[in-house]
Amino acid sequence: MSHSSKIDVIEPPVLAAFIPQLKRIYAAMDDAYNRAAAHYGFSCDGCRDNCCRTRFYHHTLIEYIYLKEGLMTLDVEMQDRVKLRATDIVHTIEKARDNRGAIRLMCPLNVDTRCILYTYRPMICRLHGIPHELKKPGQPGIKGPGCGTFDSRCGQQPYISFDRTPVYRDMATLEQDVRRSMDFTAKIKMSVAQMIRSDA
Ligand code: SF4
Repeated sequence: MSHSSKIDVIEPPVLAAFIPQLKRIYAAMDDAYNRAAAHYGFSCDGCRDNCCRTRFYHHTLIEYIYLKEGLMTLDVEMQDRVKLRATDIVHTIEKARDNRGAIRLMCPLNVDTRCILYTYRPMICRLHGIPHELKKPGQPGIKGPGCGTFDSRCGQQPYISFDRTPVYRDMATLEQDVRRSMDFTAKIKMSVAQMIRSDA
């Protein structure tokens, strides 16, 4: 394959080999998150500040492909509905940016208060909300805060170790392998809405 910087060069049979590894990494994230949440007694139930309104950006080709694979599991009507919502969101955000405004819009995959591609949701959707730490090689560890709802419900409790380092490292290694196998070099920075709208 020629050297590529375009996201629309996707070869599913090649990539299928990487999906089980991605699932293992996601399972490790979910385990780590659930363990920390259980220690604190933290739950998102009834949260008014829904983090599905936060515009997270996603940077990995493998997660992009997996989310698109998830999209294909929805019935055609739902796919169309989600794509329409994604288009509206992207346009609304572009307009707000032109007007120098900042807005929070619900993710197009959150339907009737639940994520309809929960199994396929990206990494940050699995990790957000609980205080954590990250250790980059040769640098002191960095601590990150929990979300507002965590602070109000559990913020008085002492920090319980929730180290994102191993799962970030595993994800980075997998992403490198995927990109190398496809000779894919482009940078990715897309919200869920942008991923859904992409024609790849
Ligand atoms: S992908 Fe799912 S969990 Fe993540 S923001 Fe969208 S609806 Fe929420």
